Order: sequence, then structure tokens, then C-alpha cells
Amino acid sequence: MIRLTGATLLTPEQEFPQGILCIEGERIVYAGSVLGAPPAAPGDETVDLPGRAIIPGFVNAHTHLAMQLLRGIADDVPLQPWLTEHIWPVEDRIGEDDVLIGTRLALLEAVASGVTAVNDMYMAMDRVAEAIGEAGIRGVITQGLVGHADQERRKLRTGIDLFERWQGQLGGRIQVALGPHAPYTCSPSYLKEVAQAAKALDARIHIHLAETHQETRDLAAEGRTPAHVLLDSRLSEQPVIAAHYVAPAESDFALLEGMRIGIAHCPISNLKLGCGFAPVARYRAHGIPVGLGSDGAASANVLDPFLSMKSAAWIAKGASQDPTQLPARTVLRMATYEGALALGLGDVGLLAEGFKADVVVVDLRSPAMQPVFDVASALVYTATARDVERVYGSGRLLYAEGRHLLVDREQIVREARHTAERIAQRAIYS
Ligand SMILES: [Zn+2]
Repeated sequence: MIRLTGATLLTPEQEFPQGILCIEGERIVYAGSVLGAPPAAPGDETVDLPGRAIIPGFVNAHTHLAMQLLRGIADDVPLQPWLTEHIWPVEDRIGEDDVLIGTRLALLEAVASGVTAVNDMYMAMDRVAEAIGEAGIRGVITQGLVGHADQERRKLRTGIDLFERWQGQLGGRIQVALGPHAPYTCSPSYLKEVAQAAKALDARIHIHLAETHQETRDLAAEGRTPAHVLLDSRLSEQPVIAAHYVAPAESDFALLEGMRIGIAHCPISNLKLGCGFAPVARYRAHGIPVGLGSDGAASANVLDPFLSMKSAAWIAKGASQDPTQLPARTVLRMATYEGALALGLGDVGLLAEGFKADVVVVDLRSPAMQPVFDVASALVYTATARDVERVYGSGRLLYAEGRHLLVDREQIVREARHTAERIAQRAIYS
């Protein structure tokens, strides 16, 4: 048994100063005050962590990890030209090995900042699953289904094959969803085909939805809304993860209540691409779980969940001119448990008995953190990824004191820089 002692345990509902967290195998067997803890036994590993906070691992609810290779390649450009003129032409040069290298690079950053679960949509997803396995975290993977008519069937088949190969693999660490990229890249009839396939497999859906106000206006011109797209296509008959959802139609809220849907709010990407402000508090008031996602590093430039938490809180307060919206504990819950709910990972995201031991230790002792009156507030409004000290995934220590324990960081960075230079066909500054 691993016993983490002396730290403040933080779950959204409860806080245990000088609490104790016990891990056995891949699960948490106790989280709480010292008084009720199971007795130590010979062979237990005890790690004393005064001055730290222990929180559940972060869930990155929407990302494209391999796009790490394109970080900073085209900034300050609107979404449509960003995709069509900058990203898609370069992506045509990305091969399967490049996806593996890009995903490995992304997971270095993700794990070091406390992320233990990702929801990834991209291509060559076998290689993404491989990288997730190496990194020791868990992931929901989705083959992005974008394409012209002649490619559509083949790509859907690729998504189905991925499900059949990987669903539940690596001891349940890999889940597979079907991923129609977006209403503007998939025809209504294609969305229906994906929905049928998802129903046959009982697979979750991962889709970009209403990422911009223009997208919602374009749908309105056809007499549709984002929620109608889900209903009409029957995608809504399966659990859905809707990424972004910046611009719902007013009539969407009532429709969403009847669906099994979670939203992946990507505040940094939405801010940087000038997409607007998702009405997160309204979604949550309708009972919809809202997780936090980074989106790919090509749009967001960072995968840091601490920055996602800050920007989610700031956007909610700033856009509504109401500082009571999304308080720190709510944001922390979104970044962990609600993200896990949105992804259908029922036993992830809380420090509670029986939950997976995806656990992050955050050092609260740096000068920039002082003084700490409220741990949740310090974690959301003050802490940065650099304050992450230890990360456990499924009870295994993945990262400690600046070192990745399962992968070779220097080799991954070297290969990634080389690969990025080749696919971008541009020199990299060093
Ligand atoms: Zn995306």
C-alpha cells in the first residue's frame, strides 16, 4: 500500500488538512482524516508531504495531442483560415510515426502538469493509444471523421476498427469513441451513418459543436440548431461529448436536458481564436457536466490545466460581470470529476474509496503561493503547472520532482523537434 500523509486532501466537497490517502494497486482505498485510516503494515510505502495539496488527476476533456508538433505555427488567425490555410495543409504531411512522436511530446507536458486522463481526437489513433499506454495515463481516443464523400465510408470503418481493437484495452485505460469532427465537416446523412455505427457498438460520440457563433448562424440559416443536429442525426441516442459549445441556440438548453451529454469547455482555445464565451454556468444549471479541455496546442499553445481553470473562471466572471460565477471549488470539480463524467469514466476524478488512483500532489510552499488561506483558491487562482510535484496514474508513480519516470524525456523532445521541423518545412528557433 502507498500512504500519502501530511498533505491537505482536497475533494470538491471536502477538505482534510493533514489527511491521508491510501492507494492499493490501481485504486484509492482510503482518503480522509488520519483517525479513520487503515493501519500501516510492513512493506507499505509512506510518503510524507507536508505543505502540499493532494487532488485528483486532471481530465483534459478535449484535445488533439499530436498537434503539439504544430504549436505556434500559425497564431493570431481566425478559425476557418487557420484550419484551411495553415493546419490542414501541414497535417497532410503528418505520418503515423509523427503522430506517435507528437503525442509523446504532448504527454510529457500533460503528465508534468497533472493530467491523468485525456480525450483525444486525431488520426493514426493506434499510435496515440500506444503513447497513452507508455505515459501511464488513461484516454478516450477518437478517429476524427472528416472528409469528402468518397473517403467517408472508409474513415468511418477506420473509427469502427479502432473501437474493436482498443475499447477497454490496457486494463481499461483506453476507451474509444466515434468522432464525427463537426457539423460543418460532416453532411447530415454522414452524421446519421456515424450514429448508427455508434449505436451498434454502444460507443460514445465525440464531436466539435458550435465552436463559433458563425457556425450556429449557418445552421440557423438551414433551420437547424446545434442540439437539433444531435437529435436529427440520432447521435444523441448515445452519450455525447460536445467540444466547445460556445454558441448554443436558446432552444438548445431544453433539448440538451433530455440527452446524455457532457461538454468539453476549452476556454484558452476559445479566447485565442476569438470564438466567444461558452455559457458554462447555464449548462451546469441545466445539470450538464462541463469538463475542461485544452484543445490542441496548435490553437491553445498550452495543455496546462491550471491555465484552463484560471481562464474558465475569468471568462465566466468577466463575460457575465458576476464574480460569483464558477467559484474555485466548482472549477476544480470541472477540471477533474465533471470532465470524467463527460467522458463516461465513472470511477475517476475524485479522491474517494474505490476510485482510480489518479492523483496529483501540488506543492503549496513556493513564495509565489504565499500565504495560503484557502487551498482550493490557491490551486485555481495562483498555482501553475510548475507547482506539480508528483503524479500517480492508476496507482503508479509517473512523475516526481521534475522527472518523468516511465519515458525518456530528452529523447522525445529531440525527436519531436526534428519531426516538427520536417513537417512544417520551416526552421525551429533554439
Ligand atoms: Zn478541437
